[in-house]
Amino acid sequence: MNGVPRLTRGDILRWLKENDRVRLAQLWEWADAVRHEFVGDEVHLRGLIEFSNYCSRQCAYCGLNARNADVARYRMSADEILACAHQAVGFGYGTVVLQSGEDYGITREWLGDVVRRIKAETPLAVTLSVGERTEGDLAYWKDCGADRYLLRFETSNRALYDRIHPPRAGIYSDRPALLRYLRSIGYEIGSGVMIGIPGQTYEDLADDIELFRELDLDMIGVGPFLPHEKTPLGKEEEQLWAPLGEQVPNSELMTYKVVALTRLVCPYANIPSTTALATVNTKNGRELGLKRGANIVMPNVTPPQYREKYEIYPAKACIRETAGMCHQCMKHRIESIGRQIGKGRGDSPNRTIRRD
Ligand code: SAM
Repeated sequence: MNGVPRLTRGDILRWLKENDRVRLAQLWEWADAVRHEFVGDEVHLRGLIEFSNYCSRQCAYCGLNARNADVARYRMSADEILACAHQAVGFGYGTVVLQSGEDYGITREWLGDVVRRIKAETPLAVTLSVGERTEGDLAYWKDCGADRYLLRFETSNRALYDRIHPPRAGIYSDRPALLRYLRSIGYEIGSGVMIGIPGQTYEDLADDIELFRELDLDMIGVGPFLPHEKTPLGKEEEQLWAPLGEQVPNSELMTYKVVALTRLVCPYANIPSTTALATVNTKNGRELGLKRGANIVMPNVTPPQYREKYEIYPAKACIRETAGMCHQCMKHRIESIGRQIGKGRGDSPNRTIRRD
């Protein structure tokens, strides 16, 4: 195969609504062939460190939201984060992802120091995923050595976004603009959406996929929306509704369709087979994601005493495992489908193409 025919908006919409098993099998096969051609058979591992569950935001979907008083909050120390980074090196990972709630107790200087230490003591690429911070913070962390930034835009429907993601007082939230800024100062940028947010239509999801293409993302993570009872969207009385027949289901199948279409639309992107997918199908969700377009997994290296407290949605996969168990499990799953574990940092193939 050479190149991928450009999918029109109509094509994307038709595939999102497709339910014929034979046609869908063709979509999986097509996405897998494109994945093989453009990013190869290696699966890169990113060690995920969930280093703080404090959050100042009131996102209607997320269990960490500031209003959830039932969460026992924690912040890992710099030494604990460094120990996780060294463990990731020991497992052969090329990247650590430092993720947290939007926690303003994490200062610019403190996180910059952690990034500097990881870069000085290890060969790891460092990805940050700490929410909407100021341009000054983001530029400072880049100067400290951070390589990549993950910030999902969650949905491209502005009205829906505003309802599920209330802004901080007086500060307009524009995640696509922030992603463009991050790209302009040299970060590899990652984004993504939740699938099946109450009120999300097929048209919205087609817009999301078109926005992936427009933003020219290096990484794209998508996973099903999973209701959490301690959030507005987890409660019957605070539900949002799409017009009849237009609500996107938050299903495993819909997630595979979006993973596959994302691969076809952004052939060079790094696409994870996400924990949310592994949560809706603990048996082989990760493997099916990898066979339908994905090329990345993010094994959790957060110490066990903190994992249960990072409950963004209920019954999250891998919550009771140690980092060693997650490593063995991922290795086994990748090898069971005939793929190899990636070597090195797994930098963006998109970037290499752009530079050429
Ligand atoms: N605070 C940072 C931010 O907002 O980008 C990073 C942490 S946030 C918990 C990471 C991602 O978790 C969000 O971008 C969102 O897509 C996902 N998430 C949160 N709640 C979820 C839910 N109920 N179901 C599925 N995914 C969820």
